[in-house]
Amino acid sequence: MSSYRIQGATGDWEVVIGLEVHAQVTSNAKLFSGASTAFGSEPNSQVSLVDAAMPGMLPTLNRECIAQAVRTGMAIDAAINKWSRFDRKNYFYADLPQGYQISQLYHPLVGEGTITVQLDEKDPDSPVKAIGVERIHVEQDAGKLMHDQHPTRSYVDLNRSGVALMEIVSKPDMRSPAEAGAYVRKLRSILRYVGSCDGNMEEGSMRADVNVSVRKPGEEFGTRTETKNVNSVRFVMAVIEHEARRQVDVLEAGGKIVQETRLYDPDRGETRSMRSKEDAHDYRYFPDPDLLPLVLDDAFLAECRASLPELPDPKRRRYETELGLSAYNAAVLTAEVETTRWFEVLLAECGSKVTAKAAANWLISDLFGALNRLGRDIADSPVSPAQGAELLALIAGGTISNTLGKQVFEIMLETGQAAGVIVEERGLKQTSDTGAIEAEIAKVIAANPDKVADYRGGKDKLFGFFVGQTMKAMAGKANPGVVNELLKKALG
Ligand code: ADP
Ligand code: MG
Repeated sequence: MSSYRIQGATGDWEVVIGLEVHAQVTSNAKLFSGASTAFGSEPNSQVSLVDAAMPGMLPTLNRECIAQAVRTGMAIDAAINKWSRFDRKNYFYADLPQGYQISQLYHPLVGEGTITVQLDEKDPDSPVKAIGVERIHVEQDAGKLMHDQHPTRSYVDLNRSGVALMEIVSKPDMRSPAEAGAYVRKLRSILRYVGSCDGNMEEGSMRADVNVSVRKPGEEFGTRTETKNVNSVRFVMAVIEHEARRQVDVLEAGGKIVQETRLYDPDRGETRSMRSKEDAHDYRYFPDPDLLPLVLDDAFLAECRASLPELPDPKRRRYETELGLSAYNAAVLTAEVETTRWFEVLLAECGSKVTAKAAANWLISDLFGALNRLGRDIADSPVSPAQGAELLALIAGGTISNTLGKQVFEIMLETGQAAGVIVEERGLKQTSDTGAIEAEIAKVIAANPDKVADYRGGKDKLFGFFVGQTMKAMAGKANPGVVNELLKKALG
């Protein structure tokens, strides 16, 4: 979709990107034990004997974790494998008491799927591309080592040990940092809609391994490197940019790219070699003898499918066709599930009193503007959807003008008072009282005889002046429609 190129001394190069995203599954308990997965608890307070790998302990598969991965697969139109199996991936590390990770290499739970991305989600005219997903498999997370608690000691926290992860492996379909960024954002949005992962990259519940290679356009794929555990969209894009540049420089200097694992250093904005890439056989993968193959029945699959919400793409189309929203507004409102939820509660609260268009415009300009200023997310908006709906109904019903509506909203933010109370207590009600308006019009006409003469002589533009003067005299509270009508009559 984009022709991103790296300029080298020997000509232009193309970058090829594949992402392996680890997403922590939202579930109360771990993949093979009943220990809690709550974030931020005391170290080692959520560790069962299974998680600590006590000898003789047997893993018991958590049905909920499997349902979450299946629902995720369905959300990206992937093939769900009714027969899958767990393998042991053997390696030693101090945060892995078992000495192996239970994962799925040969028979993953979810097969090929697709994620459709828009290069710039806020620009409905920007290019769209379908990125292939190779597979999603389910595996255990490791514990966490803590090296900074004591000058000479390291500690291990096993709370995360055994928590379920989905590894979502893309095909090498991306061709620019922007495409990779759009892919991660879209994947995160889908996971949040489905509710299978909270997508919080800062907390580590979603992290990406970034595979990058370069080639001359049209040639075979080059050798790739893999940069591990990249924890923000911005860093994913930076890694690709730096790594592609580095590879081009190596190749053009006559060197070779070795397949290896690298680490990203955000402070220096560069990647560094960590270890040469191990192959699957180095891990001595074999089927876990403690676990039977996983066989899913149709009832389970039907249950998973029935529990899926309306997903971002169909929702966005529906907002355009059914609600009549602009492509831009539909895109903004559906990008994040929190926004969509808020908007739909707002619509429900508005009932038939307010159009979806008016509600959408208010949310995107006024509410988002305020949240931006306050540095808050919509999920902890100081104004609730019900309070927003009350304000919108006052505007739609003509009790207050649009301009006054903005002022009332500011007061709502400051005081937490309801719109109706503010309008009542401060006497902001817009008046359609023709007597009061006519009286002010008469005064305006009497005070401006020259302008009246000019207007009657054909200077139509002056009409705006009279509207302005009348509104001013009414302290902004006159119904503009009524003012217009009465002025036309009075001026002849
Ligand atoms: P492995 O089994 O060695 O981990 P995979 O085939 O599973 O390799 O690929 C891992 C990731 O690397 C996938 O996301 C894939 O899209 C990506 N990838 C594979 N080949 C390339 C390449 N030449 N350039 C960039 N990414 C690649
Ligand atoms: Mg891999």
